[in-house]
Amino acid sequence: DNPALSVKNLSFYYGSQKAVEGISMDIHQEQVTAIIGPSGCGKSTFLKALNRISELETKVRVDGTIEFFGQNIYSPRVNLNRLRRKIGMVFQKPNPFPMSIYDNVAYGVRVFGRPPRASLDEVVEAALRGAALWDEVKDNLGKSALGLSGGQQQRLCIARALAVKPKVLLMDEPCSALDPIATMKIEELIDTLRQELTIVIVTHNMQQASRVSNYTAFFSTDESRIGQLVEFGPTSQ
Ligand code: ADP
Ligand code: ADP
Repeated sequence: DNPALSVKNLSFYYGSQKAVEGISMDIHQEQVTAIIGPSGCGKSTFLKALNRISELETKVRVDGTIEFFGQNIYSPRVNLNRLRRKIGMVFQKPNPFPMSIYDNVAYGVRVFGRPPRASLDEVVEAALRGAALWDEVKDNLGKSALGLSGGQQQRLCIARALAVKPKVLLMDEPCSALDPIATMKIEELIDTLRQELTIVIVTHNMQQASRVSNYTAFFSTDESRIGQLVEFGPTSQ
C-alpha cells in the first residue's frame, strides 16, 4: 500500500550531537505506529522530524529523506505551514492557548486564513466531537481553556489539530501527564481516530503501545547505538 510517510535513511543532528541515525521505515495509512525506547534515544526528535518541528529550537542537520505521500518534506519548495497543518501534533504536556475553548479550536483555521467550506462554528463543533470533548464543553465554549482538567485540555489540543483536517497526527507521550482515567479516554479516542487518520505515538509505556498500536518501532537501548531503530513490525498483542 501507499504509505503516508516513508522515512529513508534519516539521520538527524543537533549541531554535532547525533540524535537519530540511519532510520528507514514506512508509516502506514490509517494505522497507529508506536515509537518505543528509553529516554534520550531520539524518539521525540524522530517524531518531530516528521513535520519539521525538530528544527525550530536548534540549528540542525538532516541527512536522508522523508516523503509525505511521495513528496520529500525536506525539499526547499515545501510549504511548512501546509505541512504542519497536514501533519498535526500533540505534546506531552497539554498546551492550550490562554483563550477560550472556541478560540483554541478555531485558531488554526483563522491563522491559516482558509475560508472553511462549513461555517467556523461547524468546524469547531466537528473538531470537538472528533476529540470526544463536545458534550463536556458545548455549554462553555466561551470559557477559558485553562479551566479545563488536564485530560480535557489534551483532548482540546487534539481538537485544535483536527480542526485543520490533518492526514497524520503525531502524539508525543500524550498521556504521561494524565491520570489513569484521562489516559483511558485518550486511548479510546486514538482507537476512534485511527479510522480516518494516520497516527504516530511516542510512548515509554509498552502496555500502552500494545493496546493502541498496529505497528511498533523500537529505538535502541544501547548507548553506543543511540538514535537507531532496532526493530519495526506489527505490534504483538
Ligand atoms: P527521547 O524523546 O527519546 O527522550 P530526544 O529526541 O528528546 O529523545 O533526544 C535525543 C537526543 O537529542 C538527546 O541526547 C537530547 O539531549 C538531544 N536533544 C533533544 N532536543 C535537543 C535540542 N533542541 N537541542 C540539542 N539537543 C537536543
Ligand atoms: P490544501 O489541502 O491545503 O487545500 P492544496 O490545495 O495544496 O492544499 O492541495 C489540494 C489537495 O491535494 C489536498 O486536499 C491534499 O489532500 C492533496 N495534496 C496536495 N499535495 C499533497 C501532498 N504532497 N501529499 C498529500 N496530499 C496532497
